[in-house]
Amino acid sequence: MEKIDILSLTLEELEAELVRMGEQKFRAAQIYKWLHEKKIQDFSKMTNISAQIKSKIEDKFWINSIKIQKRLVSDIDNTVKYLYRLSDGEMVETVLMEYKHGNSICISSQVGCKMQCEFCASTKAGYVRNLLPSEMLLQIYESERDSGRKINHVVLMGIGEPLDNFDNVVKFLRLAEEKPDLSLRHISLSTCGLVERIYQLAELKLGITLSVSLHAPTDEVRSRIMPINRRYNIAELMKACKYYFETTGRRISYEFALIDGVNDDKETADALIALLKGQNCHVNLIPVNAIKDGVFSRSKSVESFKNMLCSGGINATVRRTLGADINAACGQLRRDEQY
Ligand code: SAH
Repeated sequence: MEKIDILSLTLEELEAELVRMGEQKFRAAQIYKWLHEKKIQDFSKMTNISAQIKSKIEDKFWINSIKIQKRLVSDIDNTVKYLYRLSDGEMVETVLMEYKHGNSICISSQVGCKMQCEFCASTKAGYVRNLLPSEMLLQIYESERDSGRKINHVVLMGIGEPLDNFDNVVKFLRLAEEKPDLSLRHISLSTCGLVERIYQLAELKLGITLSVSLHAPTDEVRSRIMPINRRYNIAELMKACKYYFETTGRRISYEFALIDGVNDDKETADALIALLKGQNCHVNLIPVNAIKDGVFSRSKSVESFKNMLCSGGINATVRRTLGADINAACGQLRRDEQY
């Protein structure tokens, strides 16, 4: 019988497993504490559990772990980029950032990505597999342990498309919610626009912020740079975003990576204003990171684009560049290491 990944179980699930094994329910809380507070990596360390129960637990469960393969620390602003090696040898990236309001972490949700966005390094190295809930959680635990910093904001914006790993991501959110320094209100999830999953996520009313990678206001340009748009066009995406806002009361944050000569002119700004007019939302402008073998370069008119949006009544800000000296576009570290 295959062993169960115990770090991917919520407290309720662990209780159910223990009861099924003929153990008392309260044991689950004890074990959960060892795993998620003391963060033990070996069942033998659980000193308040009898040897007999420990051996039963060891037969049934395993404790997942991840290792730092590479760590880059910015001299400018203390941003740390980790390349983590998972238990099967696959690798993902995690970025830890310091803000005035606390520490924020950007975690990966898949090894690689299927979505094929033209400007993104994560997808170039191909898709391998979904991350387990434990592997998303361990990016937080290991980064906290290594840096000595407490993390109070999480963004699911690293490698992968979180809504393409829906069940594991939702399970991870339930686990993260139980972490003392975190709350779902301080978690953001970024998607390229898997419309059916946006509806499904809205129904769960988790209270997280939904970031939608828009990057173009017309189907013509968006389909060219983001193949997902050929499956779900902008009109369908906007309908889902409005539904998300109406159902959860959380305003959408639109990501817009400005690419020189592609989506940074006045015509694009006007089309974006017309598209988002009247929506309670926010636009996050990102100067695109040039990637290896990529054809796109950073826009030279980021500030003027922002000003055009603001004059048109759209709430827009430019994302602060962190870790400029260790700048590797997301997905680039993994790609460099493996290919
Ligand atoms: N798959 C999800 C989350 C991962 S990508 C999504 O598409 O939203 C996180 C964000 O970084 C997305 O907005 C994505 O479009 C953007 N991004 C990817 N490559 C980039 C690059 N080279 N420069 C700037 N932003 C990029």
